Amino acid sequence: MGCKKDSGKTTGPSTQQKSYKWKMVTTWPPHFPVLGEGADKLAKWVDQMSNGRLKITVFGGGELVPPLGVFDAVSSGTVEMGHGASYYWAGKVPAAQFFASVPFGFNAQSMNAWLYSGGALKLWEEIYKPFNLKPFPAGNTGVQMGGWFNKEINSLDDLKGLKMRMPGLGGKVLAKAGGNPILVAGGEIYTNLDRGVIDATEWVGPFHDLKMGFYKAAKYYYYPGWHEPGTTLELMINTKAWASLPPDLQAIIESATYRANMWMISEFEAKNNANLQTLINDHNVQLRKFPDSVLDGLKKISIEVLEEMASKDSTSKKVYESFKKFKKNISAWNEMSESPYQNVIIK
Ligand code: CA
Repeated sequence: MGCKKDSGKTTGPSTQQKSYKWKMVTTWPPHFPVLGEGADKLAKWVDQMSNGRLKITVFGGGELVPPLGVFDAVSSGTVEMGHGASYYWAGKVPAAQFFASVPFGFNAQSMNAWLYSGGALKLWEEIYKPFNLKPFPAGNTGVQMGGWFNKEINSLDDLKGLKMRMPGLGGKVLAKAGGNPILVAGGEIYTNLDRGVIDATEWVGPFHDLKMGFYKAAKYYYYPGWHEPGTTLELMINTKAWASLPPDLQAIIESATYRANMWMISEFEAKNNANLQTLINDHNVQLRKFPDSVLDGLKKISIEVLEEMASKDSTSKKVYESFKKFKKNISAWNEMSESPYQNVIIK
């Protein structure tokens, strides 16, 4: 309260009354449940908080630019904002993948701690800056499911040759395990799976996977989602557009991203179990846990993938060092907090 710089004064009408009309492109189909909805809500919250001074029109993937064209559209300034996930841009910025999810890495709570209070958001800003982008965490899926398969996965050998939709570092791990990871935007996965273009897919978790209808095209639903234990979704803003805003509108956007981050994970966490039961009881989905040997093998490969990435790219090395240091710190604390508590919680 006491630190408000201009307390008692009103800002001049030139900035205070100027209104802005922005566009947000997204990697999600229009009004896609939770993810696109979250982007729609973010725009609505900004409108409400700014008393209509900043109006954002949200476009689904393909409406203005293709789903995976979001990065370029915002970077070039064609539009002011984009919503997606940073691992979609691995081909342009390999290090960006760390800010979405790391296989066997952080859950949502630790991701937020690393980003907001552990210095990772600052690193992310540095890495996006040359692309004229400013990133914000703006959503989280929580621990995902392992994915949809038409055959059982009993050993690492069962992954060999498997064409599976899997983005990000998880895809790199799958490739090193002999699989064939394919990056497909959300709106195209079902058709690809149904037509056999891909053999398997991962997506998010029961709440969203039920809506996607994957149970109609695959028999086995595996857990846990080792590849995405707490994926952060992002809002990216063109830096020139950002700089054109007065500080209060910047603060409003930032607040709306925190709210989107909280809203999305709350939706997923609250609704996953009921939808998992529907998948099992109404759609005869066969639930399977990855054998420990498969998870142990994938974890070893994951560490190799991270080490290799760090050895080839200095930016990735910098982020990986931050990740490792924070992982050690949070793991030591979790040994005293989350881990023992999980064993005594009322079930
Ligand atoms: Ca996923």
